[in-house]
Amino acid sequence: TRGQAVRSVSVLGATGSVGQSTIDLICRNRDAFTVEALTAQTNVAALAEAARRTGARLAVIGDANLYDDLCAALAGTGIEAAAGPDAIVAAAAMPADCVVAAIVGAAGLAPTLEAARQGRRLALANKECLVSAGDVFMSTVADAGCELLPVDSEHSGALQALAGASAESIERITLTASGGPFRTWSLDELQHVTPEQALRHPNWSMGAKITIDSATLMNKGLELIEAYHLFPVTAEQLGAVVHPQSIIHCLVSYIDGSVMAQMACPDMRTPIALALSWPGRMAAPTQRLDLASIGQLSFEAPDEVRFPALKLARDALTRGATAPAILSAANEVAVEAFLSRRIGFLDIARNVADALEAAEKQGLIAPAANLGDVLEADSAGRRLAQSLLGRYV
Ligand code: NAD
Ligand code: MG
Repeated sequence: TRGQAVRSVSVLGATGSVGQSTIDLICRNRDAFTVEALTAQTNVAALAEAARRTGARLAVIGDANLYDDLCAALAGTGIEAAAGPDAIVAAAAMPADCVVAAIVGAAGLAPTLEAARQGRRLALANKECLVSAGDVFMSTVADAGCELLPVDSEHSGALQALAGASAESIERITLTASGGPFRTWSLDELQHVTPEQALRHPNWSMGAKITIDSATLMNKGLELIEAYHLFPVTAEQLGAVVHPQSIIHCLVSYIDGSVMAQMACPDMRTPIALALSWPGRMAAPTQRLDLASIGQLSFEAPDEVRFPALKLARDALTRGATAPAILSAANEVAVEAFLSRRIGFLDIARNVADALEAAEKQGLIAPAANLGDVLEADSAGRRLAQSLLGRYV
């Protein structure tokens, strides 16, 4: 079934930034795709609008209290409505040629794994899922014969720059990072960053959580872990380089000294289009790359003193077992606490480091054999991060 043309599509997290970009591509190609299920957590109006525009068969709202609102919004359309977390998992199990997994955070774990179990194509945006479930996720994918395609732009770039290369021929995979809005700020300045400043990303327009992760560089750390699971490389063969223009998304270096770079203007519709049409290509209405007008592409090493999150993620990858699950869960708590002004910007990485240290001391970092183990590590990471928040005020 690999590389077969995609017709029917479901989108988990249809009202988010990646979800809306996916809906946009589908609506511009109405004859090429049919839509099965769309899901969202709370935004009934946007979900109903996406379902109407795409002619979806089913729309699911995660917050069960909003079921009546969803039914009202879909009245007369013939689109089926459902609500609650179990209904989202059921939507993920609905047969579709491709499920786009675009829920944010570990909340996407159960539905994304369910989509993988279909054994068809999974277009993965929900990186936290792969970071925390790692081996469990990849063995589910392998057992089901699922075709896993990355939506994350760097990993989509790697897929293209790899062009089916054998593992022995790859020397290194380097992900680029924009460096975020505070690339040139001093540690002292970083101390006073507000959520409003951190939510203003220079190159990409994305959901709040990943925008903060981009500002701390935790996003790049999560992506290194994601790349470790997706591609045949060791942790030592993975690296990151800061590239403020976000034109090159990934570099693959080969043993003969050749380096393949994937370039595109920063717009998620390019990698989403590839995940929908792989190994072919579909048109995407993005800005075209004009190198002469951009003038210069620049690069610098990431600064792990001002941005310690990158090293935390790398260390969690090396530590293995449930360390990445605890890192990711603690980070979700810390980002939320920063956005609600309970802790400062630099406290995000501190909180994650402290939660990991506490987990290690309490013997909570252990091999994960199944989803239950991953979920347990996820709650431990949340509980520890939450309990430590008081330290930073
Ligand atoms: P977003 O916040 O814009 O959207 C999140 C979506 O998930 C929404 O549809 C929301 O309704 C749904 N959701 C939120 N909480 C939920 C819950 N508890 N249960 C079920 N559904 C829930 O996020 P986004 O920026 O679109 O990112 C989605 C995922 O894609 C993230 O994992 C992110 O790291 C990844 N990603 C995003 C981008 C981007 O450009 N936005 C790029 C690469 C990767
Ligand atoms: Mg990315």
